[in-house]
Amino acid sequence: MRCALPAVGLFLLLAGCASTDVAPHRNPTAALEDDERRLWARAREEQARLDASDFHVRLPQVEDYLDGIVARLRPDPLPNGGAFRTRVLVDPTLNAFAMPDGAIYVHTGLLAQAENEAQLATVLAHEIVHALHRHSLKGTRQVRNQTAILATLGAGTLGAGLAGSVVQLLGAVGTMASVTGYSRELEREADAVGFRLLTAAGYDARESTRMFEAMLAEADRAKHKSPYFFSTHPRLQERIASFEQLLSSLPPAASGTRTGRVELEAVLPPALALNAEATLRLGDFDSTIAQAKRFLTLQPGHPHLAFVQAEAHRKRGQPDDAATALQLLQALEQSHSQFAPAQRSLGLLSLAQGRKPDAARHFKRYLELEPAAADRGYILDFLRQCEP
Ligand SMILES: [Zn+2]
Repeated sequence: MRCALPAVGLFLLLAGCASTDVAPHRNPTAALEDDERRLWARAREEQARLDASDFHVRLPQVEDYLDGIVARLRPDPLPNGGAFRTRVLVDPTLNAFAMPDGAIYVHTGLLAQAENEAQLATVLAHEIVHALHRHSLKGTRQVRNQTAILATLGAGTLGAGLAGSVVQLLGAVGTMASVTGYSRELEREADAVGFRLLTAAGYDARESTRMFEAMLAEADRAKHKSPYFFSTHPRLQERIASFEQLLSSLPPAASGTRTGRVELEAVLPPALALNAEATLRLGDFDSTIAQAKRFLTLQPGHPHLAFVQAEAHRKRGQPDDAATALQLLQALEQSHSQFAPAQRSLGLLSLAQGRKPDAARHFKRYLELEPAAADRGYILDFLRQCEP
């Protein structure tokens, strides 16, 4: 992410030497400060880039659901035409971030991690506060003195392996919102005010620490290390400590009881499917298998996710994986005889196991079902390998 440095450098010039003591947004007709207006303009350019990219998928049911959670949290209104609205980005890493005008981006990786609505609401409430309490403005004004962002960016946080990542599309505003985060003080404010919104909305406050603990376990497990704020061990540990403290000072009667597991699971499958495919492409087979299994408990017999699960087993290559993949693919062949990708994988698996007549039969069937397949040339090569 070398391009972030000049972007941030340029951006610093835009920030005046004004105070970081600014009141939260409350009044929808209030005027923005001059540097804040430029900040919003920059943020909107970055959003246009993100929204037009392949990372952004339109999942209206999921977005409506997330917007519904935001509405339930009842944030104060934003000025200058700003509004809280959510967007989904296909990225299997754990993250969500808010732009200063209220656009909230949620990665499919974070959606796939959440067990229930209260856990998602915890993260959304935290992000809402960043926008309401004008943390981008405070952050850019602070950074003029502290050069914290430059230090963070220069410290190798944004390393290699980010090809095909959302990070590539972010400028200074998005990088601060999504990757570096804000000062520890502002992050704690987002936790504390977000926690008040969460409990006032009737959510079970205990789900807040559970969400961050599960995210920490996942961040530690994931083979692909990610620079995002909500994917980094120290930032997640800070959230856990912060929410444990908030929980311990909450009178038991003040916590709500809403968890919303059923509600989340009713809309989650399309996001879960996109995320499972993305983790399969990344080669994170353990995670792919877990997600496909969760999906298939929500929508049993779904051919595409059964295939994704089989592929993760076939490619992972642990002792029982070939047998499991074969079993899953044969079941899929029985239930969905026209599903071409299963035939291709059965061919590859049979060939790898030295069962050439079986392999030839499956490859031929694949080409019957998909005569214009993009990989037709490869399959014909495999078919020649199957000849005695
Ligand atoms: Zn934050």
